[in-house]
Order: sequence, then structure tokens, then C-alpha cells
Amino acid sequence: MKTEVFRVTEKSDIILRRAAELICSGSLVGIPTETVYGLGANAFDRDACLDIFKAKGRPADNPLIVHIAEPEDAEKIAYTNSLYYKLAERFMPGPLTVIMPKRDIIPDSVTAGLDTVAIRCPKNKVANQLIRLSGVPIAAPSANRSGMPSPTSASHVFKDMDGIIPMILDGGECEVGVESTVISITEDSIILLRPGQVTLEMLKEICDNVTVSSAVTEELKPGEKALSPGMKYKHYAPRADLYLVDDRYIDFVSFTKEKHRMEKCAVMCYDEEIEKYTDEILLPVGGERDIKEQTKRLFDILRRADDMGVCTIYAHLPSKDGEALAIYNRMIRACAHRILGGENG
Ligand code: AMP
Ligand code: MG
Repeated sequence: MKTEVFRVTEKSDIILRRAAELICSGSLVGIPTETVYGLGANAFDRDACLDIFKAKGRPADNPLIVHIAEPEDAEKIAYTNSLYYKLAERFMPGPLTVIMPKRDIIPDSVTAGLDTVAIRCPKNKVANQLIRLSGVPIAAPSANRSGMPSPTSASHVFKDMDGIIPMILDGGECEVGVESTVISITEDSIILLRPGQVTLEMLKEICDNVTVSSAVTEELKPGEKALSPGMKYKHYAPRADLYLVDDRYIDFVSFTKEKHRMEKCAVMCYDEEIEKYTDEILLPVGGERDIKEQTKRLFDILRRADDMGVCTIYAHLPSKDGEALAIYNRMIRACAHRILGGENG
């Protein structure tokens, strides 16, 4: 199959109509969203959604997120409640995915047999317009091959999906850079399953009863069941061994310079640290306090590290506060919990 890539805005009517036709006829399309690129299919089409799992090599028990054009469209596919509408008013369209009991119209291939469905209303104008033109909700996980970092540009999608899907819409670099915040809700409670740009602190402003799933910051214990199936897989792993250095205990620059003398490693340093290095391989992550920029660059850096063929990567251990929790959550998965310094050894 030839994979065509089109540079688009929400006004690229002819291309977006072609993409909508592909969706309606059961094909898959690579789609820009504000979080990461998605691999979209008609959420009502059982077989098209099964094809998503094949294209990604995604484990069959990891459900997909269904994307809608307006918060109210959730009514057709889920049993909503008043808390959903409070969240929608504040965060939708935007990078928040809400899990609620599903209606029968959503096939099991989308929810991996669960009786709940994950719903998101994307803010990205291309994604939103494509859903409108398709006239159906679009099921879309991240458009990477399973186990690769999520794609934040059309070229990342092309690298993973060339020859596998007919079309990729190139809407430029993703604004956020990590996947949406995922929560499951009842009428009066929220469980945070995956951290993203909508933070724990922001959710607490809407609801008094917010808990955080242990899988957000810790490894699942043997036999423990993940509330969100995606949390149990080794995700976002670069080929190189990634180590997180707790810089409260270890001087990051001198430690990584010393390591570089002994092995071919790359260093994910802060922009401010660049000038302290000489001939080391650097992957600058953004300013030390610029969490938004660090989030945006994260997956591209992990992909570039793979392309460089280094054996080891060293990075600062991220904080768990606010928006940094999303980086922490992705990094501890990418590093298989190899943390250096302090009580971590
Ligand atoms: P991705 O689309 O690749 O960003 O992954 C979607 C995430 O949402 C995965 O971690 C899934 O396990 C999670 N998810 C989707 N639907 C559900 C559901 N019904 N219940 C729990 N988690 C879900
Ligand atoms: Mg994914």
C-alpha cells in the first residue's frame, strides 16, 4: 500500500473530505491532534477498529479512545453524568479523556471487551473538522507501532506506518507532545489513570474526590490488575538503556561527563546546561523550568536517541508536580524504573 502524506489545515477541504471518505469506507488515517498523532478509524466499524490493532501490533486487550467533535456527542456512545458535563465545560475540547459506561453501539473491538468507553473531544482543528466531515466518532490510539514512543510529527507517523495505512494528515508538530490525561468517573468521583496536560490539581478544582491510580507513579506488582490496560505494558521504550538521575543527590553534569568518558552515551540535559559540556552527545530537553517545552520535545528526543545508535541515555529524574507528572509517568516507563541517586541506589 502506498502511504500518502498531505500537509493540511482545517481549511484543506478537498483533502479532509478524502480522509473522511477513507474513514467511512473502513480505512485508517493518521491524524494530528494537540496531544500526539492518532491512528483513526470509524468507531462504529468493528473491522476497521480491529485493523488499528493489526497496524500497531497493539495487544488486543488495550482499548482505544473514541474521539468526538462536541462534548454532547458522548450521549450517543456512553451513559454520561453531571460530572462529565462539569469537566467538559472546563476542559473540552482539549487533552482530557473520560471513561464512562458504554452504549451498545460501540463495538467490543474498540473497548477490548470492557463495558466502559474512553471519550475525548480534541481541540486540534484538523482532527475536529475531520470528525465532523466523517459524521461518525473516530477511534484512535497513538499512531506509533506498539512499544515505540508516541508520534508528535507526521514524519514520526510515516516512519512507523509507511506502507501500512493509505493516508497521513500532516498538521505540523503536536502542541502538547504527550498523550491525553485519562480519568474514569462516577457521578461524584474521579480516578486519574494517566497524567497529561490536564493536571491532578486542575481536576481537584472540579471534584472533591480525586484519587490517583498507583500505576501512574509505580510499577504494577505481580498479579495486580491495571485499571487502565495500557498502563501494564512496557511503553515508550527507546532501544538504548535510559537512566534517570536524581539530581538532588548526584551532580548531573559531572556525573554524565564522567559516564561519557567510559561509554557512548547521550545526555538529556537542560538547555541551560549545554554550555557546560564539550564533546558529549547532547539531547537538550528545554529550559529547566519550562515543563511545557520539555513535554513537547520528549518523544522526539527518545526517537532521535534511537536513530543515533547510542547504548545508554542519561536524563534528569522529573518532578511529580503539576504538568511534570506526565513526563515522570512516561519517563519511568521508558527507563524500566532505572533511577540513580538517593534511596533509589
Ligand atoms: P492510547 O490511545 O495509545 O493513548 O491509549 C489509550 C489509553 O486509554 C490506554 O492506556 C488504554 O488502556 C486507556 N483506555 C481506553 N479505554 C479504556 C477503558 N474503557 N478503561 C480503562 N482504560 C481505557
Ligand atoms: Mg499509545
